[in-house]
Amino acid sequence: MQLYNKLSAREREALLEEAGEDRLTLSFYAYAKIGNPHLFRNHLFIAWDQMDVLGRIYVAHEGINAQLSVPATRFEEFKAFLDGIYFLEGVRLNIAIEHDLKSFLKLKVKVRKKIVADGLNDESFDVRNKGIHVDATRFNELISDPNTVLVDMRNHYESEIGHFDGAVTPDVDTFRDSLPIIEEDLKDHKEDKNLVMYCTGGIRCEKASAYYKHKGFKNVFQLEGGIIEYARQVNNQNLENKFLGKNFVFDHRRSECISGEVIANCHQCGKPSDTHVNCANEACHLLFIQCAECAEKMNNCCSKECMEINALPYEEQKKLRKGKGNSNKIFKKGRSEVLKYKS
Ligand SMILES: [Zn+2]
Ligand SMILES: [Zn+2]
Repeated sequence: MQLYNKLSAREREALLEEAGEDRLTLSFYAYAKIGNPHLFRNHLFIAWDQMDVLGRIYVAHEGINAQLSVPATRFEEFKAFLDGIYFLEGVRLNIAIEHDLKSFLKLKVKVRKKIVADGLNDESFDVRNKGIHVDATRFNELISDPNTVLVDMRNHYESEIGHFDGAVTPDVDTFRDSLPIIEEDLKDHKEDKNLVMYCTGGIRCEKASAYYKHKGFKNVFQLEGGIIEYARQVNNQNLENKFLGKNFVFDHRRSECISGEVIANCHQCGKPSDTHVNCANEACHLLFIQCAECAEKMNNCCSKECMEINALPYEEQKKLRKGKGNSNKIFKKGRSEVLKYKS
């Protein structure tokens, strides 16, 4: 029985190109009580590997969080499989707007302690007592109400390239960091204001909303299905789009375009740009925004130092790296003193 990937990412890429079939990029999550996450993980891997599903999936006692791609022709089979699992029956699937053949190149199903690293002690509050879910229409109404405080529950590198007009965007590196900051900012309005929150696909708000209710906020709302579902509804129902810029996503596409405007700038020269890249120096890998001109000038690196290292023969780079981890791992922080225009 095969429980792990046999193909490398490069072999997979070649195969996908050759097959040339349409794939759907989608995500979903569910909180549930999973007794044996390892067993469940193997069950998923065996079934999905056979359906040619690729992606990154986290399984924990508390549930599942999945980002994946499915061959379009096998979507019905995939859906039927989900419906056969009691807590995934009818689960909302967030389907990406842009379909990309190569959004994922491997199937990785990992067992974690939690499906989202929220740093919360779940025993201390009732996670089922969530905020009110709202669709795009209701969300638009709510956020034009002057009595509403709109909060972006994502990290600084996500909200930097795109967010809702008028949202509070905490300058934080992790979801965990944003919770107390927001609470402090809004402490005088626990009862009189609407607290409306959103994130990429809704999963962070599921718990954050329960947490804030526990902390005494009376009117808590969350955007159902997050920005991904909002964009879909705006498109399908011809609604007014109040999201500016791009939606940061956690697959190799990095982002999907929701409105035309560019709201960020190149971290190296300050010109308008919203293209996230990773520093080409493997030992650095810093996530930052770089315009095409700077990419050329800097050889896709974040600094002169990284350019020098990156120009060395591979074997020498490897020697330099020995014993040191990546200093700026992807999605970790996206901050560095070398980035002059990072606000
Ligand atoms: Zn630039
Ligand atoms: Zn670098």
